Amino acid sequence: MSAVPGVIETAAAVSSGRRTAVAEVEAALARIAEGDGRFGAFLEVTGDLALEEARAVDARVAAGERLPLAGVAVAMKDNMWVAGRRTTCASRILEGFQPPGDSTVAARLRRAGAVFVGRANMDEFAMGSSTENSASHVTRNPWDVSRVPGGSSGGSAAAVAAGFVAGAFGSDTGGSIRQPAACCGVVGFKPTYGRVSRYGLVAFASSLDQIGPLTRSVGDAARLYRVVAGFDPLDSTTVDRETGDPEGALGRGVAGMRIGFLEEAEGEGLDPEVAANLEAARRIFRDAGAEVTRVSVPRTTVAIAIYYVVASAEASSNLARFDGVRYGPRASDADLRALYVESRTRGFGPEVKRRILLGTFALASGYYEAYYGRAMRVRHLLSDDFDRAFARTDAIVCPSIPAPAFRVGEKTDDPLTMYLSDVFTVPASLAGLPAISVPSGLTASGLPLGIQVLGPRFGEETVFAAARALEAAADFPDAIPAVAG
Ligand code: GLN
Repeated sequence: MSAVPGVIETAAAVSSGRRTAVAEVEAALARIAEGDGRFGAFLEVTGDLALEEARAVDARVAAGERLPLAGVAVAMKDNMWVAGRRTTCASRILEGFQPPGDSTVAARLRRAGAVFVGRANMDEFAMGSSTENSASHVTRNPWDVSRVPGGSSGGSAAAVAAGFVAGAFGSDTGGSIRQPAACCGVVGFKPTYGRVSRYGLVAFASSLDQIGPLTRSVGDAARLYRVVAGFDPLDSTTVDRETGDPEGALGRGVAGMRIGFLEEAEGEGLDPEVAANLEAARRIFRDAGAEVTRVSVPRTTVAIAIYYVVASAEASSNLARFDGVRYGPRASDADLRALYVESRTRGFGPEVKRRILLGTFALASGYYEAYYGRAMRVRHLLSDDFDRAFARTDAIVCPSIPAPAFRVGEKTDDPLTMYLSDVFTVPASLAGLPAISVPSGLTASGLPLGIQVLGPRFGEETVFAAARALEAAADFPDAIPAVAG
């Protein structure tokens, strides 16, 4: 398949009248209809609604409106409200749930001229690293269908990698945008905590959740990010602060930029191909004029341990509302307790139950201090480590994933190894930092690898500038993977 037009390209073509939004959306729907049987990126394709919305975009363009995303087809992870569609978090407990309207992200995308083509598959409630925890089906990696696409935003990543859409949105609590992006050879960006509103995002772990784009280029990610970023009175954690000019920053280059390679991510246990890829990134930044150093952020080594206490504790509290009374199928009306127990027993899958149990335990009186309290204290120390590191460096670089996408079924019986897939993405989540994964090469067997660039809080412009420099020189194919073509 020839390269599918990107976000910026599509918006320019539709804005100038060279193409219509309807034609763009029809083309995306045709690609999905033709190809998604192989990958299962979508839980549902909402073609009729999308075409209706595309006609509205064409009318706005004809009326002279300038729309930064005119006619851009996007896929939304199924944990964000989009008016007129269901939101199920790929869970039985939210079967049939109709949100009251758009999430803030969907509303901003709509205002900018984007069109929603479907609900992307995900790990149930965004808990997982492989999209195998979906109550619906497993999504396959477009580079190799025997492999997972990563997760939890695996449907979003696969939809972009397969060339169905130029842009998709995911949520990232501990890596769920960046890890699947790396596994699928696309760009995935998690903004600083507080940059993007979570109004209408079904909460997993509220002190960590952020929404961000997945695209085929860094420039496209910057465009989508700029449209959705900014203060929102409906989410009190958003910050009232200028978004800056992420697209303008793309051309800045890295000459003179201090780029620190994360010491804790190097050394023995590192997969040899991942290590070689990291070396190539070091050369790219050096050749582009950056001042490349090594930087230590010592407590990144305990990030996974902190994360699984904090994220599970918050999840157990957030998911208490799914009780068979307010949402989802109700098990029986016999007595209230039985109703709760049965609805939750049937409604949640095994991984979600595991997190609820872990989290409830960590918050139980008598254990609270030993687990949650302690994890939160170490989390603050990790943030301090990053602050110290960013006093000496402008951006921090490490791999996005410890190994390329694994085989479907390979880690389903071993949750702890699954959790280790997030070893490089969780630190930025705990510290609330902006971070991007850029496709950086293929392994000998043709699987994508990704390099991650982290910036200081609100340092999105620096992150985009460094990511663009890496993208420009990285050895990564432009074409859609052969199996998707
Ligand atoms: N894989 C991690 C987890 O299972 C991260 C998920 C996420 O970022 N939503 O919790």
